[in-house]
Amino acid sequence: MELLSKSIIGFRTGRAGGATFRAEDPITAKALEPEFISALPEEVDEAAQLAAEAFTAFGRVTGKRKGQLLRLIAISLEAIHDLIVERAHLETALPKARLEGELARTAQQLRLFASLVEEGSWVTARIEHADLERKSNPKPDLRSMLRPLGPVVVFGASNFPLAFSVAGGDTASALAAGNPVIVKAHPAHPGTSELVGHVIRESIFACDLPEGIFSMLFDSGTSVGKALVMHPEVKAVGFTGSHAGGRALFDLAMARPKPIPVLAEMGSTNPVFVLPRALRARRSQIASGLFTSFTLGAGQFCTKPGLVFVPEGPDSASFIRDIETQVAESFPFFLLTSGIRDTFREATGERNQEPHVRSVASSQFSVPDVSSAVSAAFSETDAATFLSKPDLAKEIFGPTTLVVRHATKKDLFEIVASLDGHLAAAVHGTAEDFEEFAEVIHLLEEKVGRIVCNGFPTGVEVSPAMVHGGPYPATSDSRYTSVGTQAILRFARPICFQDCPASLLPDELKDANPLKIWRYVDGQMKR
Ligand code: NAP
Repeated sequence: MELLSKSIIGFRTGRAGGATFRAEDPITAKALEPEFISALPEEVDEAAQLAAEAFTAFGRVTGKRKGQLLRLIAISLEAIHDLIVERAHLETALPKARLEGELARTAQQLRLFASLVEEGSWVTARIEHADLERKSNPKPDLRSMLRPLGPVVVFGASNFPLAFSVAGGDTASALAAGNPVIVKAHPAHPGTSELVGHVIRESIFACDLPEGIFSMLFDSGTSVGKALVMHPEVKAVGFTGSHAGGRALFDLAMARPKPIPVLAEMGSTNPVFVLPRALRARRSQIASGLFTSFTLGAGQFCTKPGLVFVPEGPDSASFIRDIETQVAESFPFFLLTSGIRDTFREATGERNQEPHVRSVASSQFSVPDVSSAVSAAFSETDAATFLSKPDLAKEIFGPTTLVVRHATKKDLFEIVASLDGHLAAAVHGTAEDFEEFAEVIHLLEEKVGRIVCNGFPTGVEVSPAMVHGGPYPATSDSRYTSVGTQAILRFARPICFQDCPASLLPDELKDANPLKIWRYVDGQMKR
């Protein structure tokens, strides 16, 4: 399939005239063919207008038809599996096996949302029949359910070119809820984005759905993204990426004459706590699990454990030596872009300049100069230094972690209390540790979206119970998850019909329950 290198605006192809850019091969640092063309300001407007026009019809499309679309997208992505994996590998240097897994996860995610909307109960229908005999004042007939918001703009991250990109969780959940989607393609993987974008467009055409429900715009900078967030027809933003980017777009959306929700999933440092008895009993096993976790995907996961807290003593000294050996023996890692490499080098360099922070190890192998390669980095410090330097808790995207030694239980509780919001935390303990330090887990509930016991934060299951969210600054809204079926709730709002004639009610709220969904009827869950 030849890449057209132009934006997708409904069923149309973008025009020439915008600024051009190319993806870069992270291994050779060479610019890749073809040259992509940024969307013009009038194309931003066309995509938003088309989305707004399409919303009226698409917002009322049945769950069965939306399910059919999501399933067709999944099958069609799988049909060009090799092409997608090949291009994504070229643009990201992520191993093909990892990309194959990510493609499978993306298809599974689409099918999960298809099942959810085909079944239909996600709309949380509530029916309260009127009570005209009620004393003091008659009670009206009230019926409520979730409805879509309108056109949603989606920004994906560089580190998940498939699962958090064009057909990723935000697009899947927004479409499942009945919202048109406009994707701002990530400039680090434009070819992958185009291949996936065409699959979505062709699937919409094949399902005979309105053309405006999907557009995908290229840009060499940030102006298209900003214009989309400011467009009056856009009703919500789904963002996955850096804290700086998410916060900038959040502030922009709040400054609109009519502010809109920005569901931003941002960076996180995901603290790991190793409790004393577990450290003694499973020291080297935890050290090697930690090394694998903080270097997985070259450390470019939002769930990477970037902070590790251990009790001071001989066990922690041995634990640090265990990690030191593994870091020293590791080969260089290729990062996604030269920009991420530069930020990684700068941030690890600055961290190691801090008084009382010791750079313990980096790889013994030399790092190629003309690419985005870096050596893993590993540092350590003490609780007092950590508590006095809040910047040490900030995310450094790439293969690095910081071990913090704490001398007393009081230090440990102070550390937990000092933490900002994170996506996940992990605690390693024995049964006795968990009894003695139960309060640590209770305190962490206020700090993170997911608590992992005797494991690591990397590896996020796509399933109904998953929570991939957390308090600010991990996300802009701690009430939601961006992974799993509950992600659909981000792109829907409740609406109540009071004393509405039955003929005007959506099927979900009709007395006969034609869709056979689960509903709260007069206070009872019924089907
Ligand atoms: P990024 O630089 O923030 O980019 C994400 C997208 O937002 C890109 O399309 C980018 O376009 C756009 N963007 C960024 N700043 C913008 C601004 N001020 N105005 C308009 N558009 C803007 O993030 P990334 O490097 O791709 O991804 C890595 C980060 O994502 C890490 O911090 C990682 O932890 C986080 N992440 C979080 C999750 C999660 O679920 N919480 C998942 C994956 C990754 P340009 O590139 O053109 O600026």
